[in-house]
Amino acid sequence: MVVFTDLDGTLLDRDTYSHAPADSAIDRCKALGVPIVLVTSKTRAEVEALRLSMRHTGPYIIENGAAAILPGHPDLILGASSSASRAALRRASFVSGVLVRGFSDMSIDEICQRSGLHPEIAALAARREYGEPFVVLSGPVSRLESALAELGFQVTRGGRFFHVLGGCDKARAVRKVAEFLNDGDTIGLGDAPNDIPFLLTVRRPILIPSPHLHAMRAALPNAFIAPEPGPAGWSRALLEILDNP
Ligand SMILES: [Mg+2]
Repeated sequence: MVVFTDLDGTLLDRDTYSHAPADSAIDRCKALGVPIVLVTSKTRAEVEALRLSMRHTGPYIIENGAAAILPGHPDLILGASSSASRAALRRASFVSGVLVRGFSDMSIDEICQRSGLHPEIAALAARREYGEPFVVLSGPVSRLESALAELGFQVTRGGRFFHVLGGCDKARAVRKVAEFLNDGDTIGLGDAPNDIPFLLTVRRPILIPSPHLHAMRAALPNAFIAPEPGPAGWSRALLEILDNP
């Protein structure tokens, strides 16, 4: 068994970014030898800080599937670099007339204001190796998406930002890590539409309640729904499965 999980709003509380309410299920996974694979739009620097506090030792997928970090093995690079992503975003914005503001245009203060992140965490979030998060200032995002698609890039929507990515997604990265771990009994947990593709690739998807739940249920009608939002729901849903295998 292997658990693939989103972070914000799923394993981490949407507002406090705490994983504490999930600690009992995290400990149970450790005791049973069930790897927890973190799947996130966050950077390597952000995830490393979190892994220390969680004492996480398993693989992790960063920047929306742009790379999978497999401890003791070379990284699996799946996506375009952030400089290529930024260049594509600028070009697509110009071509489509949709005005955007990317992370690389924002000060740490502005990232904090827009995300509610603590300044130390925002500095780690700004250390991107692959895609580029952005906000739309004016114009329809669909037009920007088409312009990016022409350039071979795609847009995914996270909790607070859009992200431009080149040639990668969380689903592909999850499949690669499941192959690497040679384990088909996959569980996935997520709370937002950008988790849907990876939840569709796992054997047992679990939806964490959020304002997106309705759309998520439509895409994943057979998914199990956690009994409450955030890490507390994460823990209860996972303990239910671990206790009734
Ligand atoms: Mg999330």
